[in-house]
Amino acid sequence: MTKRVTILGSTGSIGESTLDLVRRAKPGEIKVVALTANSNSEKLASQAIEFKAEFVALANNKNAEVLREALKDTNIEIGIGPDALIEAASREVDFCMAAIIGAAGLEPTLAAVDQGIHVGLANKECLVCAGDLFMQRVKTKGATLLPVDSEHNAIFQVLERDKPKGVKRLILTASGGPFREASIETLQKVTREDALNHPVWSMGAKISIDSATLMNKGLELIEASYLFDRPSAEIDILVHPQSIIHSMVEYIDGSVLAQLGSPDMRTPIAYAMGWPDRMAAPVERLDLTKMSGLTFFKPDIHKFPALRLAREALEVGGKAPCVLNAANEIAVAAFLQGQVKFLDIPHIVESALDQHSKRSCFGKSPCEVADIITTDNEARITAHEHIVSL
Ligand code: NDP
Repeated sequence: MTKRVTILGSTGSIGESTLDLVRRAKPGEIKVVALTANSNSEKLASQAIEFKAEFVALANNKNAEVLREALKDTNIEIGIGPDALIEAASREVDFCMAAIIGAAGLEPTLAAVDQGIHVGLANKECLVCAGDLFMQRVKTKGATLLPVDSEHNAIFQVLERDKPKGVKRLILTASGGPFREASIETLQKVTREDALNHPVWSMGAKISIDSATLMNKGLELIEASYLFDRPSAEIDILVHPQSIIHSMVEYIDGSVLAQLGSPDMRTPIAYAMGWPDRMAAPVERLDLTKMSGLTFFKPDIHKFPALRLAREALEVGGKAPCVLNAANEIAVAAFLQGQVKFLDIPHIVESALDQHSKRSCFGKSPCEVADIITTDNEARITAHEHIVSL
């Protein structure tokens, strides 16, 4: 049977890796239904033509004309603006890959969840800013959430979900990013290019900066807590520079189950898209005879305060993770544009959390998407004001 698939964020790093797997699938195995992008209309048009998509959606109307012109001799339907993303996510499919970056992915991903289908969740930010609401929606709509983040995908593969009492803790591994061994003096001088140069993974710009500050691991900690219904105290983080063990689950009998693989996102993507079956992925095979040098150590939260901030936000709960995420998105965008220094990023996030924590409803989880969007917008303004004042 042909699997009908939509990819939200098809022009990004995860989106392109997903399409690479579709390209290699057997003829008739996968049908691409809808593809979306923010502004890269040229790449979106060429993907839509190659994969014979039925519908494309562009969030930002700036390059809409380029898209219309490129697709004028095809039958491909075009949608422009944020509502078009919802329309793309609402098309009838078997599997939707949620790979938009940032909180912008929340509403389209929820629209996919509302279909009660299999959703490959790459977009960790939507769980960070709306964890309770998102997981509740997955449950009520009967959707199946398949984690694509390599760590969560690893845990999903080895977690005995039907025996939750047997689980002692989850262990998320972290590569440590490009500045694992850097001194504070070096961190003060980090450039955009240094921070984008990840030693192991090839990823989009925002997540690469998050990996360098270790905020990515902080976001993943929050993501894991909601996905697997575990408190902060039962989730540990270990730096594992080789990125071969993607994460582990420790059980009460002392067993530790791990998933291993080459650091290539096409493995977790194939797992999610093929689930419940396995799908072939053209990744480098592990040569276990060369695995004698696997190392693990605790992260340095003094050098990388983003990790501490994320854990604190998770423990406070309510709106704190949403504020953390929104302020981080603004701080990372400002760093990428050369407006702030690398070490300013956690300070901007911490100051937004401090300011918002004074509000009476800070510790209360938002119950409506509109509340989350309001909190997200307010935290963005706070972070922006901080940047202007620097
Ligand atoms: P990229 O930046 O490479 O791609 C992001 C995608 O989202 C692009 O298609 C982009 O369109 C689209 N997009 C950006 N902004 C908006 C917006 N405001 N509205 C609608 N669409 C938008 O990101 P990645 O592929 O690296 O990451 C995607 C998600 O997957 C993130 O949440 C990330 O944390 C997660 N993830 C990524 C991993 C990786 O290896 N890359 C690993 C694990 C998780 P356009 O091209 O037009 O800008």
